[in-house]
Amino acid sequence: MVAKAALYFTVKHNSYICCMSKANAIVMSGIRPTGFLHLGNYFGAMRNYVKLQDQYTCFFMVADLHALTTHPDTKELKENVHRVLAENIACGIDPDKAALYCQSHVRETSELYLYLNMLAYLGELEKTTTFKEKARMQPDNINAGLLTYPVLQTADIILHRATWVPVGKDQEQHLEMARNFVNRFNHRYGHVFPEPLAYNFGEDLVKVPSLDGTGKMSKSENQLATLYLADTDEVIRKKVMKAKTDGGPTAPDSAKPDYIENIFQLMRLVSTTEVIAHYENAYNDCSIRYGDMKKQLAEDMVQFISPIREKAESIRTNESYLQDIMEKGAEKARKSASETMNLVREAMGLHY
Ligand code: ADP
Repeated sequence: MVAKAALYFTVKHNSYICCMSKANAIVMSGIRPTGFLHLGNYFGAMRNYVKLQDQYTCFFMVADLHALTTHPDTKELKENVHRVLAENIACGIDPDKAALYCQSHVRETSELYLYLNMLAYLGELEKTTTFKEKARMQPDNINAGLLTYPVLQTADIILHRATWVPVGKDQEQHLEMARNFVNRFNHRYGHVFPEPLAYNFGEDLVKVPSLDGTGKMSKSENQLATLYLADTDEVIRKKVMKAKTDGGPTAPDSAKPDYIENIFQLMRLVSTTEVIAHYENAYNDCSIRYGDMKKQLAEDMVQFISPIREKAESIRTNESYLQDIMEKGAEKARKSASETMNLVREAMGLHY
């Protein structure tokens, strides 16, 4: 079991964010195969995965069961699972270091999900922000899986008794719920699970904004304002040049409107410190030309995204390689899951 004393925490925005690393922490996270991966997935999740895999026991999963809550049609699922796997590898996940697997290949997840459901209350599930948002978006399919999404996510994490969960800011509330479910389980049945914490290498969790100034980049919404890791150079340039701007600041050192701050935020992810300083200064002395700034951002995005796209494309079509990776990953994940489930059944008194 992970030694809690070995971790250091800060409290930020009502949630715990791990800010220092030590000892033998277990890391777990996942991404849904609901479409093309984008810059938000990269900076919110995958960048951290890559940094963590060298030092810790890592479990990274393609969350195909979670995808069914919003994408019940499975016709494109296999292709999407393969693409997400390829994109993970292209971003730097090394399947020899981390267990890279598919959620449905680890059946223990469903068992733990069932037990945890008995410890999750309707009131708290209905209040979850992501549930309310998704229920609004798919009023004809407000299914129980959507409602219990954070419970399944908790099962994924604690199945490996993980403590660090590299995720973007949108997952903060889910992690808080995971800690509640863990505490309820431990309190009722005895201590089996450590509390999982949202993890980011920097101090704050990341939210990569969409290019149109409304909300975040996302796999299935805001597609024209989201930069995908599979976008061609031309598409990247077109999307960036369409980002909303205005006539520029009229007084020195004025506050930036949200949509302008978003462009700066994107620049901070991929551009050099000199480039960023140049445009910050130009903004502050009112000489900024947004057309030039967007051209620069577009080129920096192309430099960043195109090597990932090309690598993912070459891996994506190699089905037998991806199959091998998934099998190897699932084997590691099942071993860890079955150890945990023995503890769970024992603690719950399900051994007759
Ligand atoms: P999506 O919202 O695109 O469907 P997922 O729900 O599969 O993505 O999330 C996968 C990971 O990517 C999660 O850790 C999530 O926090 C992160 N993520 C998704 N969108 C963003 C974003 N715009 N900024 C930062 N992180 C994000």
